Amino acid sequence: MAESPEQLSRVEVLEQRVVYLEEVNRWILDSLDMVVSLGDFQGSINYDQEISKILSITWPHLRRLMSYQTMAFLMVDSTDHDFLVTACEPASDEAKIRKEIDALVEEGTFSWALNQNRAVLVPSRLHEYSLVLHVLATRSSIIGMFVGVLSGQELEVTEASKSLLSIFLLNTSYAVESSQLYRRINDHNRNLEETIQRRTQELQNARRQAEAANIAKSQFLANMSHEIRTPMNGVIGMTDLLLDTPLSERQRQCAETIRSSGQALLTIINDILDFSKMEVGKMQLDCVSFSLRRTIEDVVELLSDKAENKGLELACLIHPEVSDAFRGDPIRLRQVLTNLVANAIKFTEKGEVVVEVRDLSQPGNREQSSRLAGLSMAQIEVLVQSCPSSSSLLWFSVRDTGIGISPLKQQLIFDAFSQGDGSTTRKYGGTGLGLAISKQLVELFGGRIGVSSDPGRGSTFWFVLPVEKDVSETAATRGSEANLQGLRVLIVDDNATNRSILSQQIEGLGMRSDSAEEGERALKMLQSAVRKAEPYDLMLVDFQMPGIDGLELGRAVKSDPSLSAIRMVLLTSFREKRHEEQALRCGFAAYLAKPIKQSALLSCLIQLVTKVNSSSPSSVVPRSLEPKNELSSVMSRSGVSVLLAEDNLVNQRVTLGLLTKLGYQVDVVNNGLEALDALSSKSYATILMDCQMPEMDGFETTQSIRESEKKTGEHVPIIALTANAMQGDRERCLNAGMDGYIAKPIRAADLGAVIDKLILENERTMNMSSPEYSLPDVFDLQAALERVEGDRELLIELAGLFVEDSAQLMTEIQQSIDACDPKSLERAAHKLKGSVGNFCSQKGYETALQLEAVARNGDLKAAEVAYNHLELVIGKLKDELNQLAYGKESA
Ligand code: ADP
Repeated sequence: MAESPEQLSRVEVLEQRVVYLEEVNRWILDSLDMVVSLGDFQGSINYDQEISKILSITWPHLRRLMSYQTMAFLMVDSTDHDFLVTACEPASDEAKIRKEIDALVEEGTFSWALNQNRAVLVPSRLHEYSLVLHVLATRSSIIGMFVGVLSGQELEVTEASKSLLSIFLLNTSYAVESSQLYRRINDHNRNLEETIQRRTQELQNARRQAEAANIAKSQFLANMSHEIRTPMNGVIGMTDLLLDTPLSERQRQCAETIRSSGQALLTIINDILDFSKMEVGKMQLDCVSFSLRRTIEDVVELLSDKAENKGLELACLIHPEVSDAFRGDPIRLRQVLTNLVANAIKFTEKGEVVVEVRDLSQPGNREQSSRLAGLSMAQIEVLVQSCPSSSSLLWFSVRDTGIGISPLKQQLIFDAFSQGDGSTTRKYGGTGLGLAISKQLVELFGGRIGVSSDPGRGSTFWFVLPVEKDVSETAATRGSEANLQGLRVLIVDDNATNRSILSQQIEGLGMRSDSAEEGERALKMLQSAVRKAEPYDLMLVDFQMPGIDGLELGRAVKSDPSLSAIRMVLLTSFREKRHEEQALRCGFAAYLAKPIKQSALLSCLIQLVTKVNSSSPSSVVPRSLEPKNELSSVMSRSGVSVLLAEDNLVNQRVTLGLLTKLGYQVDVVNNGLEALDALSSKSYATILMDCQMPEMDGFETTQSIRESEKKTGEHVPIIALTANAMQGDRERCLNAGMDGYIAKPIRAADLGAVIDKLILENERTMNMSSPEYSLPDVFDLQAALERVEGDRELLIELAGLFVEDSAQLMTEIQQSIDACDPKSLERAAHKLKGSVGNFCSQKGYETALQLEAVARNGDLKAAEVAYNHLELVIGKLKDELNQLAYGKESA
């Protein structure tokens, strides 16, 4: 049945509709395919890759849109802005593409296509096929052109395909741009790294140069120090000798001025040297056992003349809770304190200078220290927390009533070469290095230093340090203080600080104290105490007081029969014989020099109390109550022969003069060869050896002497004389086999002390190593029992501990000798000495002491001898202690 024309047209419409719908459907499917394809493409890009590699990833995706024979990307070259074929598929068609492009550029089609932000189709040169051109552009720039070759001359490509191509190529453009940016950033970073490396290298070179310059500088300083010290040795030494000859008053004044100027110059040189040592990080601290009280009191005593000349009260208060036995560097501690106290005296015209020491580890002291220093309690707490438990956190303060320092200047004075102000400097002199050195030293100790000041009223300089406790030291003096417990003491002084210090010292020793600021009041207090049947046992009286002075008060007390039992001590800064005599006549039993040292006060009071008990007649106790130097008192110097090897004529004469004055018999030689010659014909108790000499220097000579001693087993102590005071000199001398070291300019007192000590130690060591040396009893059971108040059980327990401890210490000693480590050797010997002492083993104690001394001198050869001996003694002591335990068990 034929269809009507109407029906036919309806079918056609429907067919067209179907075709259209199919097309739309295909377009949708293509678009979806494109989206998936884009996702794949994005996922497969690595921005690190070459641009050509990224472009080549597009090939399969582009083929999904149109069936290209050839595809190519022409990218803009960043240098000449030309379009270059960057990727071509297949690569073999590159020349063909180039030709097509050249033709398109020629006829202007290429630049037209660039301006169409869409795909354009153009015929090829020879019209064999069609070309698809599409610009590659991002929002900011044109980066290239896509060229695709379609087969045949068909110029019809669906709009849908063109749109999808545009989307895809836009994405490709952004991917390429991102990759270019990424690569640029990478290049930039690489450049940056190279620049940094280059700069670092340059800085390292500069630092090396600076370090080399620094080393050259410190070498220069060492040389200068040597050059300056050598003539200074002549100046000071000769002046000392000159002052020992008969001189007119005028000549004496001149000579004394030369001496004090020389010493002042030397102080400056030492400051500069110290400062430069610290600048190059060469300052090292010692670690030896020392008495804190003695160290501080030495400083105060040394400067007491200066204070006295200015009419200032100089006082020192070491609070009773502060222990005495520590380990550290007393010389450097003394240096810091000396500097602060000397400054305080220098910048104070009237009033007082007070040195105070507290132990901050004791909680009660923190508040006052915080007030003095302007540190918060929290800051003090941090300091306390950072202090190891084996150390005490010590607080030192030096307070004066001088000119003070403005707040602005307070921030500057710890810097090198800075002083309060120009006029101060001119008036007071100085280098401005003292506080800078003190600060660096305190920081080297691990501490802090600071100042608080009220301009016109005074300053308080303080520093706080952790100091290692010396646990091996026993509190030797405590027992004797028992005699003083509970005694009543009256202090009479017009100066409030002195009264307060004395009363703390007195109470620290377990006595009770009251004080009066003048004589009348003191007399009344004494009489009222007698009436209440609580008389005073002792009275400390200041010599100089307004109203009744010290002597008159003494006389008044002695003339009152009810008071005559009281023992009186006069405190005075005057050091004249006639005052001692006057004091004696006025009834004083003792006489103490201000500033009062706690140790001197203690010995003085003990002597007085003992005298009271034995009721011996009162007399003036000698001012210096310190025990005499063991070494100087046991040695007689006459007949001790010393060899001096020194090439410099002035130094020869100075040292010879000093040695002769000290009583030694001296032979002089000019160099090392002559020294060896002299030794071959005569033996000497010691040799003083200059380090730098012509022909054969001191180091070489020493080595040669030590070599030949290996055959004889002898050992002559050699003391280095050197003008080099830099760090390392001492080590060099000791390594060369010398036993001691004296830096020029030489002081008579140092010279005598070092020589006597070394000779004595040497004699002891040689005696011990000689075969005929026998072991006397090593253990005094009776004395050891007394120490533990007769508690035999306790003694046995202690002995057990000692046996364990000593074995470990002996191992430590042996290891230190093997490792050539005199420092740890000294430490171990010191500990052993402490524990041996508990058993009243005189021999053990002496032997350990000996080992400690040779270790301190770095003489490892002598240490070995001493160690062997110590082993014998300790072995024997252990046997005896074992017997003690065994005896107890069998009993
Ligand atoms: P020097 O005393 O050699 O000038 P220092 O470094 O010891 O060098 O001191 C630096 C400065 O600090 C001094 O010049 C002085 O102005 C000031 N100064 C130090 N101690 C005191 C003090 N106790 N009282 C007042 N000013 C002081």
